[in-house]
Amino acid sequence: MPTPYFITTAIPYVNGRPHLGHALEFVQTDAFARWRRQMVDDVRFLTGTDENSLKNVQAAEREGIPVRDLVDRNAAEYYALRGPLNLSFDDFIRTSVEARHIDGVRKLWEACDQRGDIYRRAYRGLYCVGCEQFYAEDELVGGVCPEHQARPEVVEEENYFFRLSRYAEPLHALIESDRLRIAPPARKNEVLSFIRRGLADFSVSRSKARARGWGIPVPGDPDQVMYVWFDALGNYITALNYADENGLYQRYWAHNPNRVHVIGKGIIRFHAVYWPAMLLSAGVPLPTTIFVHGYVTVEGSKISKSLGNVVDPVELAERYGTDALRYYLLRAIRSTDDGDFAVERFARAYTADLADQLGNLLNRVVSMVGRYFGGVVPAPGEPYAADRRLIEAASGLRDRAGRAMDRFAPHDALAAIWDVIGAANKYVDDAAPWALARQRKAGDSAAGAQLAAALYNLVETLRLVACYCTPFIPATAEAISRQIGCPLDIEADWARWGGYPAGAAVQPGGGLFPKLEVAEERGSTLAKALEPSQGSKSIDI
Ligand SMILES: [Zn+2]
Repeated sequence: MPTPYFITTAIPYVNGRPHLGHALEFVQTDAFARWRRQMVDDVRFLTGTDENSLKNVQAAEREGIPVRDLVDRNAAEYYALRGPLNLSFDDFIRTSVEARHIDGVRKLWEACDQRGDIYRRAYRGLYCVGCEQFYAEDELVGGVCPEHQARPEVVEEENYFFRLSRYAEPLHALIESDRLRIAPPARKNEVLSFIRRGLADFSVSRSKARARGWGIPVPGDPDQVMYVWFDALGNYITALNYADENGLYQRYWAHNPNRVHVIGKGIIRFHAVYWPAMLLSAGVPLPTTIFVHGYVTVEGSKISKSLGNVVDPVELAERYGTDALRYYLLRAIRSTDDGDFAVERFARAYTADLADQLGNLLNRVVSMVGRYFGGVVPAPGEPYAADRRLIEAASGLRDRAGRAMDRFAPHDALAAIWDVIGAANKYVDDAAPWALARQRKAGDSAAGAQLAAALYNLVETLRLVACYCTPFIPATAEAISRQIGCPLDIEADWARWGGYPAGAAVQPGGGLFPKLEVAEERGSTLAKALEPSQGSKSIDI
């Protein structure tokens, strides 16, 4: 039986269009999901949109359109990232329209209420609409929200509260012991010290008037709607039909050892403290792992509408290729840290790693099989000493890349794969197949056997590289598999050396990555600064 693996992104507010920061989280989560599928786990990958927030109401008011129209339009844009980013999510939940969600969060509320953890009280606090959260005076920086640099509003009303204070000890114990694993370790320590400072009960509703009537009504009190976090966090189980606890819920939540949330560092408190406390209260199993990624900046500045650097991920993917963008987000940005999207770095990674190393290796190998063996990949024969080094490097990928992915570190997994690509390029130079071909022509049969072994080893290395690249740059992996004439069958024992069927024919298919030229003059937009040119690199054989 394959192991179940449930993985989620956070669900973004739909008050604006998706930007590069969203693309980073979606592509990372997609790579984790695809990696697990590659390891033949039973994966379910969930994403969606958080539609009941006050931010959405205010954005609609600014545009002068009904909230429903704004939410529907923008939710469609998030869903539509699936194509240009090549996302493989299995489910997409919308919190304002789906009965499974509305019924599910009402059930969650009632479960917490029955436990005695929800009570009503008058409250006065400082509220940042951008964050949809209350701030204590000492959490503000110079009187403004640290995330939005905006002065919070004073809000005074009677709300329902969740008795978070009751859960400090059990939460601390669960996180410290890694029964609820928070990765990377620095984030775990951040959460533990937050809990040790003491947990205050938090507001889980607001007046219907302040919410402009938008949101899910509190069970038994139609004058209040659920606070956006109580509602939004619930999506992780409501999408699995927590409302009736049916098969999906049993398979991917109740009886699953891998319940994984991928989130940005700005919402760690909600996911690592509020959400598990709500679940403890409701008697529902907790997530097993929360992975926290950093933020992406653009040319060194935080992504912000006012700065005008909201890079459109769809535009980038359409211009330079989905896989070029995915590769950059996964390799050039360390998943656990903040990273930057910069034109020069993007162009460098594209040219050096994708075009020169991977694209060129494929071109060289496929061309040589064509030239020296009429396009049919020869049987390997006995490996030579240099071959064994390449074989060991390629065979070791499962451990190296696997360990990196266990740490949610796709940048390290890709570094390991590119080490093998580098070793294969060096192997071509060292083995010098063109010299062996000349010796073979002169009647040297040992040179002929060595030539056959060299090309088999290179094609087999490309097969393994394509398999390991599938979670990160899936279309490129498929293109490699087509050109080397070998489908990537993950049901088979694909990771073992020697899986390429000798006697199959290569299918030359042109360059994987067209040459990119960086304009001398930096344009006002990224799109102007990079111009892809036609044609592919010349082949060096
Ligand atoms: Zn804020």
